[in-house]
Amino acid sequence: MTNVTLISGDGIGPEIAEATRRCIDATGAGIKWDLAEAGLDVMEREGTPLPEATVESIRRNGIALKAPITTPVGTGFRSINVHLRQAFDLYACLRPCKSYKGVRSRYSDIDLVIVRENTEDLYAGIEFEKGKDDTLELIAWLNQRSKRQIKPDAGVSIKPISVAGTKRIMRYAFDYARKMGRKKVTSVHKANIMKFSDGLWLEVSRQVAKDFPDIEFEDRIVDNMCMQLVQKPELYDVIVLPNLYGDILSDLCAGLVGGLGVAPGANIGLKAAIFEATHGSAPKYKGQNKVNPTALILSGVLMLRHLGKTPEADKLESAVATVIAEGKNVTYDMKPNRDDPTAVGTREMADAIIAKMK
Ligand code: NAD
Repeated sequence: MTNVTLISGDGIGPEIAEATRRCIDATGAGIKWDLAEAGLDVMEREGTPLPEATVESIRRNGIALKAPITTPVGTGFRSINVHLRQAFDLYACLRPCKSYKGVRSRYSDIDLVIVRENTEDLYAGIEFEKGKDDTLELIAWLNQRSKRQIKPDAGVSIKPISVAGTKRIMRYAFDYARKMGRKKVTSVHKANIMKFSDGLWLEVSRQVAKDFPDIEFEDRIVDNMCMQLVQKPELYDVIVLPNLYGDILSDLCAGLVGGLGVAPGANIGLKAAIFEATHGSAPKYKGQNKVNPTALILSGVLMLRHLGKTPEADKLESAVATVIAEGKNVTYDMKPNRDDPTAVGTREMADAIIAKMK
């Protein structure tokens, strides 16, 4: 048996977590679930949205499947998702974007994977607020040393890109490509303008690529990449990006293959990996057995692949693909008309997927 922490989250989380657990169990993958809580529901009972027992469970098992968690606006509690990424140094964010027959989309032949660096860049959270003493001091220091002058009423966000941070995400992208039988890695940047951050990213990309002669390597400037993805997405395979471009392009690519309902994801580090859907906790649908469990189930497929349980992953992915292609036992969002009375609930869609694996 393989121990996996299952975090049921809040909002629609518990319903899709249960559907996913049942589907994974039906593959015969031999997962022993370590049930853990996080989010608003446990906050009300225990006074913290992320109990230590949950963190300890992830530490012990090294693998977690996590349903969405609400980040309430203006209450002061930080995003648990961000907290977990930092606590476990989950430096690689993996977002496969694949066309499935039956999912409405303008494109039909996409099978690409976004690998986003998760810890550096403008997203690192190193910020200086307009008008504060530290900010004014920083601006004065920079203005003394640079020909370019920053206005004194500016806010400043810092963009660190390091050799070590770039090297590990590049190695992750190439290792992933090799392990998954993929052919090409595309490194995305704006090195023509940001020479010392994105320029360094590109230089390290090229160095790492030399260690993987069996995988084709190319680079693209981020604005060109956006146009290319909209015009000929089928040309791309594994795309590796710094944090901010990765954030934006992973939503762009989710849009290419039919949106958040079918977009799985994972955040991976050396000591832990957390698998989760890209969408949030959709609180308005809580407890209604209505929403689509596909994104979390496909995150479960990613998890099985990560664990080396390839036959079980193939079996589950193919069952999901068949149910979606048939278009009968699917939730409201996958029907051509959202008010279609033949749409089934979360539980029933999972039942249909399980039935395909028998
Ligand atoms: P959301 O993804 O929860 O919902 C947006 C809309 O998308 C929903 O109203 C619904 O119409 C649709 N939707 C989402 N998931 C669906 C599903 N499985 N099936 C069918 N339709 C679905 O985004 P939001 O409303 O911006 O965020 C709600 C909360 O979730 C916020 O507190 C946000 O911070 C949090 N969030 C959490 C995560 C996470 O835990 N990883 C990710 C994103 C957002």
